[in-house]
Amino acid sequence: MGYCIKCGERWKAKRLCHCTACHRNFGGIFGFDLHRRGMKCNDPEDFGMVMKNGIWQRTMSEEYKNKLRKLSRDTKSKTLGAGQG
Ligand SMILES: [Zn+2]
Ligand SMILES: [Zn+2]
Repeated sequence: MGYCIKCGERWKAKRLCHCTACHRNFGGIFGFDLHRRGMKCNDPEDFGMVMKNGIWQRTMSEEYKNKLRKLSRDTKSKTLGAGQG
């Protein structure tokens, strides 16, 4: 939940990040950080983000989602160690 004193925007979603510099809404801190590359506001579109219902979100292909799912499963079942490095 938050409130921007500059533009008067209010939002309820906890995870929503509103940039008080460019007054864009982001679906999460990751997207917010991404657009703040170099300590300035960048166009989220440059980072492959899209705006939905006034909120900038990262787009994830199904392929990428599946990859992440697989990865988290692998790291759980595998034991780390064996001569890497
Ligand atoms: Zn910004
Ligand atoms: Zn604002």
